[in-house]
Amino acid sequence: MPVLVMKFGGTSVADLARISNAAEKVRREVERGYDVIVVVSAMSGKTNELVGWVEQTSPLFDAREYDAVVSSGENVTAGLMALTLQEMGVPARSWQGWQVPLKTSSAHSAARIVDIPRANIDQKFGEGMRVAVVAGFQGISPEGRITTLGRGGSDTTAVAFAAAFGAERCDIYTDVDGVYTTDPRIEDKARKLDRIAFEEMLELASLGAKVLQTRSVELAMRYKVKLRVLSSFEDTDETSGTLVCDEEDIVEQNVVSGVAYSRDEAKVTLISVADRPGIAAAIFGPLAKAGVNVDMIVQNISEEGRTDMTFSCPVNQVPRAREAMEKAMEAGEVNFRQVVADTDVSKVSVVGIGMRSHAGVASTMFEALAAEGINIRVITTSEIKISVLIDRKYMELAVQALHDAFGLENAA
Ligand code: ASP
Ligand code: MG
Repeated sequence: MPVLVMKFGGTSVADLARISNAAEKVRREVERGYDVIVVVSAMSGKTNELVGWVEQTSPLFDAREYDAVVSSGENVTAGLMALTLQEMGVPARSWQGWQVPLKTSSAHSAARIVDIPRANIDQKFGEGMRVAVVAGFQGISPEGRITTLGRGGSDTTAVAFAAAFGAERCDIYTDVDGVYTTDPRIEDKARKLDRIAFEEMLELASLGAKVLQTRSVELAMRYKVKLRVLSSFEDTDETSGTLVCDEEDIVEQNVVSGVAYSRDEAKVTLISVADRPGIAAAIFGPLAKAGVNVDMIVQNISEEGRTDMTFSCPVNQVPRAREAMEKAMEAGEVNFRQVVADTDVSKVSVVGIGMRSHAGVASTMFEALAAEGINIRVITTSEIKISVLIDRKYMELAVQALHDAFGLENAA
């Protein structure tokens, strides 16, 4: 029988009534003839609570025990979902990560999936089980200990199961009805997209759109898993939600598909560093080691052998960045006059695979910002994305202006 993967996020299993509502959706797919693999998150708020308990007990916690504790939220919802389905007369069984077994690396709290052998679940499907309810977010290390996949990891569990079982589709049920052109809380003309390309979704996810874990999109792209985001609170059918798919499967291509933002950025400048071969490595090596997620980088004009180096990173990493640079200075690896941090900036980006074949996206973007009197501090581009750093107080305005400039209120 064809296999369908259905994933329910925390808000979709937040209480027994919602679990029952989700189970009803599963039952309908079983009746349509699918063998279903359901992947569940913990009830909303549960994982945060468990993380809090771990941190209160042991500030520098042992990551193996962190995983033992935080993985438990999904065990509860998996069991309850299986029971709910059984009460509806659907043959269902719950599966914790180790029972599948979903094999991972031993990088506790951020483990990577290595293999999902099908034999155990296939055998039960063969014996009449119609739904395997899998606890998301968790697996088992080569040492035989429970691991977790990083926050939001149930999305990745779901896509990995879809790839392993050759599922027809992987449906991600959540509390929004799809992927939007931008955040509807900022721009009320934001539109739900019917389709979006993997590459675009990957950019949007890594720019902070929280609807899918970035790794789940990477995995879906690699294994060509048809991924769909849809609401668990609405009546849905084959055409609901947003389909994340290959760009060839999108007929009416938008030049720009979305405007993304990241509110809490900082712009850090090292003033007057020696302009010599190896200087970038001497700066960004120690920053990487200190765990600073450097995003944009600009090297300014050089004068008399000295230059300024500017980069952006999340605001809360500025102290770490300063410390790393001061240490590198003491060690004689770099030499600068001053570190200046501007912590009142945001990043706004436009994303679209149409940029590859359409000239003028950058100029449209810059003109739209200029028309609002918004000064651009730093610019970076990739093949399908242009990002700018601007003053935080203009962030909402910039998102709205760009949404208008690219006609996204008519996007589909
Ligand atoms: N419950 C986990 C979290 O909140 C995993 C997930 O829901 O995807 O991060
Ligand atoms: Mg999530």
